[in-house]
Amino acid sequence: MKNIRLVNNRKNEDLVKRYAVGKRLSRARNIPSKNFINFDVETNPITILCSIKGSSNNNYIVNILENESNTFLVIHDCPDYKKGYNFCKHILKTLLVIDHEVCKKIVGNYKNIKFSSNFADIKRSKQENSAQKANKLIKEKKYLEAIEFLSQAYRQSKNLDYISRILNLSTEKDLPGQFIQYIVQHEQFIRKNSASFPKIINSIISKIDSYIFENLVGIFIKIQLLLLKLEEVERTRLLNQINFSEIENTILKFILLHKFQNKLSLEPFFIKCREFENHKDLSNKAIKKKITNIVKSEIQRAITNLDSKPYVQALMDIANNLQVKDSVVSTSELIDYKTKIENLYREGLKQKHAALRSLVISNTKTDKLEEIKFHYKYQFPTILWSNVKKNKSPLYYYILQKCGFEKHHLDYISINYFVENYPVFKHIFNSNNPLEREVKQFWKDENPSIQNTAYTHDTGELNFHLRLKDVKKYILIEWDLAQKPVLGSYICQFNDGFIIPEKDNPLTYEIKPFDLILCLKEPITIKPSNIKIFRPIRKLGIKTAIDLVYEGIVYVCSYLPFNIVADLKNHKIDEIDAYNRINQQFENIFSPKKDRFKYHFNKLMQEKVSADYNHFYQKIRNQSHSENKILNLIGFKRYKTIFRDENTVLEFSKTPLNRDCLQELRYDFKKFITAKLIDSIKNKKYHEINLKNLKSFPEFKKWTLKIIYDLKDELENSKIIKIKNGLYDISDLMRNEYGKKIVDALEIIKVEKVKNNKKMQGKFLITIEDLEKILKNLEFLRIDNPEVLSVISV
Ligand SMILES: [Zn+2]
Repeated sequence: MKNIRLVNNRKNEDLVKRYAVGKRLSRARNIPSKNFINFDVETNPITILCSIKGSSNNNYIVNILENESNTFLVIHDCPDYKKGYNFCKHILKTLLVIDHEVCKKIVGNYKNIKFSSNFADIKRSKQENSAQKANKLIKEKKYLEAIEFLSQAYRQSKNLDYISRILNLSTEKDLPGQFIQYIVQHEQFIRKNSASFPKIINSIISKIDSYIFENLVGIFIKIQLLLLKLEEVERTRLLNQINFSEIENTILKFILLHKFQNKLSLEPFFIKCREFENHKDLSNKAIKKKITNIVKSEIQRAITNLDSKPYVQALMDIANNLQVKDSVVSTSELIDYKTKIENLYREGLKQKHAALRSLVISNTKTDKLEEIKFHYKYQFPTILWSNVKKNKSPLYYYILQKCGFEKHHLDYISINYFVENYPVFKHIFNSNNPLEREVKQFWKDENPSIQNTAYTHDTGELNFHLRLKDVKKYILIEWDLAQKPVLGSYICQFNDGFIIPEKDNPLTYEIKPFDLILCLKEPITIKPSNIKIFRPIRKLGIKTAIDLVYEGIVYVCSYLPFNIVADLKNHKIDEIDAYNRINQQFENIFSPKKDRFKYHFNKLMQEKVSADYNHFYQKIRNQSHSENKILNLIGFKRYKTIFRDENTVLEFSKTPLNRDCLQELRYDFKKFITAKLIDSIKNKKYHEINLKNLKSFPEFKKWTLKIIYDLKDELENSKIIKIKNGLYDISDLMRNEYGKKIVDALEIIKVEKVKNNKKMQGKFLITIEDLEKILKNLEFLRIDNPEVLSVISV
């Protein structure tokens, strides 16, 4: 579900609201779309398969399946639903975001809906979910993710067909690592697949450089296990077919061979290795001794260097496999290393909290803190405090969200509380600090001093020209603080599943929310529930990030509007649109990097984008038949839709399009459109303008507002004429765009009673009941009611 933003459909709310008990509908409305882990909808028959992340880190399934007899089976498993509230917030949320017609079909049939939380149904449903998701991913060529879902389907059903599919898929798509992992776990497939082993193993060896060392160790230990499971004849044959000479890493090579050294001379395998160049004794024993020493010195180096835990763990796995663990590293050394790493991790956490807090403090400096409440209800030390100004700045919601609060939690508290969900230091609260002990424990200090150092500097910029050719290998991630730790990580992102940074990677400790990090594009691992682990490579400054997005790097972000940069690059918008959109979006988001983003974005526009466009324009403006290209450059097609009559703008295309620069042409074009708009407005010909389209052009905001006010005025001044027989003539009101909309929405029917009266023909006559409906609506919309003129004889 890459980049899918699930939007609540207003029209669906009308359909479901009568089933919603209590505050469930508003809660449903506020479930963020990123809580959907899967979201698949097929329409014929209706098959809705989703998983939603619940508030306590559980994943719930919501499946709505249409049966042949036009009945629906709803399968779901949250506690609220099990209590008998069929329309719990998850069901409601799902119904809100699906297509209106689909929703209508389901809830229109209320009597025919069967609600189930039956264990067997759930189990089957989960499995179908996974299998279907896998099929979809295969179509999208996302094989690694597909394998993870097939494996889930297997775990849920124990049906070996899924394993068989994984093995076929990994053979077909050349994913030898996956093949080895699953074949070792399922011995029953070994015999059937043995013919493909040499190819698979040699494939791993041939692309050994594309694996991370930790993964390689895992794979090689599994290959060794596979070899052990083979019968001797087969094993010998396989060993003869493996391209040992291509394995440069002697440790990895040794893993494959050492279990068989009582029947095998190791010398031929190692004689050409660099490490053994000056060795006279190449007996099995001597080789093992040498390898053990290599492992030992690497472990020593890694723990002194504070290399990452997975790396050290991989080395320990080797030591275990060689049964030399005790001789290569002492337990106390290992403990020492782990403590140091953990401290480093805590330090990172502290910095993260300090960063958040500095935001909180800087934004609450002017607030008076008047009340402190401690809620035991939430897992983490939670402090709520009220803000006298009732100021709902975006930051408040931001912090609320970060703290795992959903908007509906505000329902429970009377005043507008401000929430911080992290350990808090004492002097903010003077006395009455309910968390003294916890704080002290966490900070190891009663009053830690925290400076607002977090976002005052930008990271050094990367010389990206050097690496431009590698852009495809990387992904740019703007990290976000997780509402709840995801696999222990406090930061995450959401894109086609959860993304978290590699645990124990030194850079991971330093990552703070809002940080822009260049990561390896291929996830290192994919965990159940489609959680992908990415390896961070380095922190990026805003300028580099913008440049890289402009060069086409894949990115995941939630605050900074990189999409505008990408749209610019792809000519979906022009510079003026981009400026406007940047300003608009920045009004609505919270990011400490706003200003710097704007600054560097402007620079990109001046130095690159405008120059690019202009260069292209200069090149083609004198060529024959280049009119269309030039018109595209200034966004002609989109602007054309402002007017109902396309010919209005067409005039411009007939004028000479040659200017000194593209900006000048664009400026003239907008001037032309403005003139046309003014013309329509002056003559009150509002129907010539497509108001809905006009609204999407911020640069014409002034004129859009003018039209809206004029139309409102016109509506208020329209005349309703009372006629005999309790009938009213609202033709004047109907001539107004809003008047017509209101009448249409109320489904008011024109009365055609006065047939013989020529004067009344073509007039829009309605009954007094309908008139009351209209007036009530106008009142609701705070529009002064139009004047009702008294009797006019017919
Ligand atoms: Zn539910």
